[in-house]
Amino acid sequence: MSEAGEAAVDAVEAVAERIEAERSHLTELDSAIGDADHGGNMARGWAAAAEAVAELDDPDPATVVKTTGKTLLSEVGGASGPLYGGSLVFASPELSDGLTAESAVAFAETYLEKVQDRGDARVGDKTMVDALTPAVHTFKKSIETDDVEPIEALSKAVAAAERGVDFTVPIRASKGRASYLGWRSVGHQDPGATSTLYIMEALLDVATEHVEVPDELPDHADSPTIPDAEADDD
Ligand SMILES: [Mg+2]
Repeated sequence: MSEAGEAAVDAVEAVAERIEAERSHLTELDSAIGDADHGGNMARGWAAAAEAVAELDDPDPATVVKTTGKTLLSEVGGASGPLYGGSLVFASPELSDGLTAESAVAFAETYLEKVQDRGDARVGDKTMVDALTPAVHTFKKSIETDDVEPIEALSKAVAAAERGVDFTVPIRASKGRASYLGWRSVGHQDPGATSTLYIMEALLDVATEHVEVPDELPDHADSPTIPDAEADDD
């Protein structure tokens, strides 16, 4: 399996583990302003996705992402299936030519656009978009303007997502089930923004273990390479 394909499979597994670990917390958040199914739905969907990608024969990142998205679409109920899964399927072709800093930015932007369109949500609606938007913008700016290493760009994106999650607490929901609560949604952290942060944190963990310097990135060719971290038990 290619290094990038292996990293992608590891990433799905890491997300599945993280979401499973946060299952009760996500359910608790969704109990306050939703229908208390976010933890269970996401844990079931990502566990199925991890199983599905583990069975792929010599996968590339785009195939791993597409398979993950399709599995989430069929396993995650409610609005989350299309939002998390459908958007992954839609954005997966951005990685067809491999995983580079540039293709990662294109993928992130396409994913964000699709989530916004499907959810008809913008920043300030108290949804996953509040975490995703600053994260994607920060990632893009870090790569394209500030010319930082992809791993540092991802780290900055995670920090931006975290601030986005905090931003959802004091605002009133205007999209999704939480919007039915009106002002009573104020003071509660959005579960979708929170799971989006957890997904990104898991991606950062895996990326840190798999940092490589592809030939396509001459600007970063002299950057330090983190050697294969602890080999997993597979
Ligand atoms: Mg729900």
